[in-house]
Amino acid sequence: MACYIAVDLGGTQIRAARYGADQVRQARTSLPTLAEKGVEGVLARIERAVREVWPSDGRVAAIGMAAPGPLDSRRGVVHFAPNLPGWEDVPLRDWLQETFGVPAFVGNDANLAALGEHRFGAGRGVNDLVYLTISTGIGGGVILDGRLFEGGGGLGGEVGHITVEAEGPPCLCGSRGCLEAVASGPAIARAVRAAIAAGRSSSLVDRVGGDLSRITAREVSEAARDGDDLAREALRRAGFYIGVALVSLMYLLNPALFVIGGSVAKAGDLLFGPIHETVEDRAPEVYRRGVSIRPAALGDDVGLLGALALACDGVGE
Ligand SMILES: [Zn+2]
Repeated sequence: MACYIAVDLGGTQIRAARYGADQVRQARTSLPTLAEKGVEGVLARIERAVREVWPSDGRVAAIGMAAPGPLDSRRGVVHFAPNLPGWEDVPLRDWLQETFGVPAFVGNDANLAALGEHRFGAGRGVNDLVYLTISTGIGGGVILDGRLFEGGGGLGGEVGHITVEAEGPPCLCGSRGCLEAVASGPAIARAVRAAIAAGRSSSLVDRVGGDLSRITAREVSEAARDGDDLAREALRRAGFYIGVALVSLMYLLNPALFVIGGSVAKAGDLLFGPIHETVEDRAPEVYRRGVSIRPAALGDDVGLLGALALACDGVGE
C-alpha cells in the first residue's frame, strides 16, 4: 500500500511524518529549519527531513506540505514568509514534485491546521467551522460545507486581520486594529508592559526580575493563573476582542463551530470565559443557537495532519 508524506515547515522547525493509507502514522522526524541559511539551505533541510521518513519500498502516493506566509495554494508558490528570510515567490510544490517524483500539494499552515482539526480533531463531523490559532500572530482557516475555503486567489481565511478596533494599534499587515494587533501573544505582552510602565503594579515585574522586555504571553498566562489582576485584565481584553471577531464571523458564515488553538489558547478559561461572555453579549440568540466554541484538540502535530488531509484529498482518496 502506498503511503503519504506530510511536512510542516515552520520558522524554527521542520516536521515530517509518514502515514499509511489508513492514515496511521508510521514515522516522524523534526529538524531545525535553519532559516538563516536562505531558500536553498531550507530546501536542503526539507529534503533531509522527507528522506528520513521516506518508506524503504519507495511507494509514496503524495506529499502534503504546510508552509507559512501568504501562498498560492493552487500553484504551491510561497509569496513570502516573515520567518523565512529570502523567501519570495518560491515554487515549493514544483520543487517537491521534481525532487521526489511524486504528486505534491502545498497549503497555508493555518488553513491546513483548520483542515486537520476538521478531519481529525475538534471539528470532526462538523460541516462548517472557523479555526483560529492565537500565538505570535493570529491565523485561521474556514471550512465550509466540509471543504477548505481559500477564496479565489487562495488568500482567504485570514481571520487575524479582521478589524476589531478601527483606529487601533498598527498591525504588521499595514492596517490598524486587526485582531492580531490587539489579541496575539505579543499584543497581550505589549499591553501589560505599557500598563506597568504607566504605573500599574503587577507580580509580573518580579516574575521577570524587573526586565519588562522578558514579559511574553506565557508569563502573562502564568501570572493570571496565580491571580494577578493586570494579567487577568490583559487576557480578558484579548478574549473580548476575539469574541468581537467571532460575532462578525457568525453573521458572515453562520458556522456550527469555532475551534481555537495556538499557544495563547492554553490560558484556558481565562481567555475562553471572556470570549463566551462577549459572544453572549453581542450575538443574537438565533445566531448563538447551535454554535460551539471549543479548544483545538490536535496540539503540535496539527499542521502535519492538515498536510496529510491535503495530500489524501489531492490524490482523491
Ligand atoms: Zn493586520
